[in-house]
Amino acid sequence: MTTEHQTSKNDILFARAQQSTPGGVNSPVRAFRSVGGTPRFITRAEGPYIWDADGKRYIDYVGSWGPAILGHAHPQVIKAVQDAAASGLSFGAPTEAEIEIAEEICRLVPSIEQVRLVSSGTEATMSALRLARGATGRDKIVKFEGCYHGHADSLLVKAGSGLLTFGNPTSAGVPEDFVKHTVVLDYNNVAQLEDAFESMGDTIACVIVEAVAGNMNLIRGTPEFLRRMRELCTEYGAILIFDEVMSGFRVGLGGAQALYGITPDLTCLGKVIGGGMPVAAFGGRADLMHNMAPIGPVYQAGTLSGNPVAVAAGMTTLKLVQEPGFYEKLTAQADKLVIGLTKAAQEAGVAFCADSVGGMFGMYFSAHIPSSYGQMMAGDKARFNSFFHGMLEEGVYFAPAMFEAGFVSATHDDAVIGETVEAARRVFARLA
Ligand code: PLP
Repeated sequence: MTTEHQTSKNDILFARAQQSTPGGVNSPVRAFRSVGGTPRFITRAEGPYIWDADGKRYIDYVGSWGPAILGHAHPQVIKAVQDAAASGLSFGAPTEAEIEIAEEICRLVPSIEQVRLVSSGTEATMSALRLARGATGRDKIVKFEGCYHGHADSLLVKAGSGLLTFGNPTSAGVPEDFVKHTVVLDYNNVAQLEDAFESMGDTIACVIVEAVAGNMNLIRGTPEFLRRMRELCTEYGAILIFDEVMSGFRVGLGGAQALYGITPDLTCLGKVIGGGMPVAAFGGRADLMHNMAPIGPVYQAGTLSGNPVAVAAGMTTLKLVQEPGFYEKLTAQADKLVIGLTKAAQEAGVAFCADSVGGMFGMYFSAHIPSSYGQMMAGDKARFNSFFHGMLEEGVYFAPAMFEAGFVSATHDDAVIGETVEAARRVFARLA
């Protein structure tokens, strides 16, 4: 460790943070435990950049883990937040702005006929599961290995030892009794999904899936996998939940469901719809949503749900992403990044590939783009970690774990992408 590193304000803040907060962070992946080293404490962000406590600037490909699709601190979003805040921070009573954002979400995502606002993606998925169970009167849920749906008890589950066995908790504090209702299957494995429905289809309340998975790096659901899932859910009366907390308004305007042309029964949203503030949502078929309190028997509530300041940020973001050509440009910039990085790695002789869908991308230290959790885990983690730290040194901030997708924003222009690829060229050369 150099003297300069020891006196870094990031180090000082990290040591201090660990005194008052477990691990020094308020969400585990921020702690850099997967890659090692000291997390950067961020002081401000603008456009594609973030600055740390030492004043060092980074090109940011985390974008607050997805919300910052317009780039950080977009002037119109900041103004909307300031204007809303000046009228009061929270009322605990309905507002017209909540109607407007609900109408906008229903218009932009046609499978959503009614929507309920919550404050985090975890609340959205947890509530959607309760709704699916309440509406079907069934307990079992199906999820896929490597998909992350927030930290509700029944979703913190990994695959058991054999096919079609019930899962094991991935966190202490989750009772076996809770996870015995969760079936964990392989992503993109059509035969296994068919077997599961054949053996227990009439007891399955719902299937929850990231149609474009962003929590095992980036992995695309195959059209066949998603199409068969839709058919089986319909055939057996199970609810199909697309968790689009990450992919919603990120892979395209109507989310992954518009890309694949598949209509889920329920959809979970978050991240982009809050524009950097705590807004998430679940919604879908009106007949299902009518099961929600206060008109139906499925309970769900929130002191800060539909918070006026957060909704102002979300609504402004949703307006701006509808500008003509927005997603074409975002997709093109992510493509340029993927092509540039892949070429730079090839030139250096490093086994690497990359992929992107809309404004989301994946980087893999392997010969082929993975299509399952197992394939993704076989990537070269040590190499990723060296690449991550090399890029950080160069002033480029990628997600601090091999298992995370990356995000570009509307402010990642050609110059920013070009600077990133040049930095990667130097780092790959050192890795080779
Ligand atoms: N679902 C998906 C697909 C996510 O990516 C995440 C978070 O990354 C969540 C749910 C949970 O959202 P939150 O962190 O807002 O609780």
